[in-house]
Amino acid sequence: MEPTTINIEFELSSPQELAAEKISDTLIQNGYTAYFVGGYVRDKILGKSAKDIDIACSATPDEIEDLFDKTIAVGKSFGVMVVVQDGEMIELATFRKDGGYQDGRRPESIEFCGAYEDARRRDFTMNALFYDPQKKEIIDYVGGHADLLKGEINVIGKAEERFSEDYLRMLRAIRFSARFNFPIEEGAFQVICSNADFILKISNERIFNEINAMFCGPDPKFAIQLLKDAGFLKLIFNAGDLADLGSFSSCDPETAWAVFFHSIDYNSEKAVEKLKELKVSNIMINAVKFCMEPVRLDDKADYLHLFSHKHFAKYLDFIRIASIKDKASKELFDELLQRYRSYGFPRELVKAFVSGDELQELGLQPGKEFGRIIKTLYRMQLNDELKTKEEALLFVKKEYF
Ligand code: ATP
Ligand code: MG
Repeated sequence: MEPTTINIEFELSSPQELAAEKISDTLIQNGYTAYFVGGYVRDKILGKSAKDIDIACSATPDEIEDLFDKTIAVGKSFGVMVVVQDGEMIELATFRKDGGYQDGRRPESIEFCGAYEDARRRDFTMNALFYDPQKKEIIDYVGGHADLLKGEINVIGKAEERFSEDYLRMLRAIRFSARFNFPIEEGAFQVICSNADFILKISNERIFNEINAMFCGPDPKFAIQLLKDAGFLKLIFNAGDLADLGSFSSCDPETAWAVFFHSIDYNSEKAVEKLKELKVSNIMINAVKFCMEPVRLDDKADYLHLFSHKHFAKYLDFIRIASIKDKASKELFDELLQRYRSYGFPRELVKAFVSGDELQELGLQPGKEFGRIIKTLYRMQLNDELKTKEEALLFVKKEYF
């Protein structure tokens, strides 16, 4: 089939772009076809900053290995290789079509083929555009360029078939919709709604990665609304109602997860359990938990400890977003800001007036009581009850001897 071609010149200037250009030149000089493809081409046309460049080409993995000095066989059996060029790692995939899908997850087999079939195996029309860096043109087998200009997410081929090959594509459609603020073509969205149950065939890791990518994107709130409309919140999180999220735009993913859980009425314990089920890293779980768990805030020392916590910025953002709908959070947010300002925006705790060594020199023996004394002294210091080292030492002598 003949593609539509559109003359567009991408300015290739980053080290990655220059390396990708060199690689495609080498492939073409050796008689192969090589195009930039996927998200990079889509984002460039939209004038957005593009991430990694992927190259699709007619060379097989063995041929790629012969042609380039430094290659990594990341997925040779699927035709995926990495070429290291001028210190840049560029992924090269041999044009392929995917063999039968049996479990709605992964193709049973693949077959190397031409560019047309490679475009047809991809998910959405806007993700299947090729860019020829030599001819400086877009090669469009699927009407993706027009869909991009129109701003609509369209499935390549029949939506029922394409989603049933890989049900994760349902979440990908939602992610791209929220990322570009493009609607999903109505018929395709209906198919998503009626097939939502099948998302449970997809592994927890893949589901998490996809939703997390939505939460890293520009409009997590819109993504959550779409997830709800399609039925995924009930299926994946057993969520009933979704509280109004107020005005909530891009933020750290950990904050977004905390806001999300809050809006479906999860407490921190339930949220942690769910994140564990989704096989999320402990680092991330701890940050979400910190945002959601109540913090003791009795005195200045408590506030200073909170302000110096590594997750304070995420926590503050969570309280800010929650405060839009929730009176208690609003009061807490105002109090936090007022204290943060009046204490001079402290992000680190000050050094203790009296060290453990000094206490020992005074004759105190290490142990439980010793630890308690150190803590008491430090809290009193943070609370301005002890203003100098001398005052602190005097206090020790008076109280503990
Ligand atoms: P992003 O900017 O988020 O990386 P992307 O479009 O580059 O978006 P990737 O997941 O990096 O997405 O995949 C690269 C390309 O591979 C896609 O543009 C699409 O053509 C194809 N692709 C990825 N996942 C699927 C899938 N599940 N089904 C069909 N094609 C897919
Ligand atoms: Mg990509």
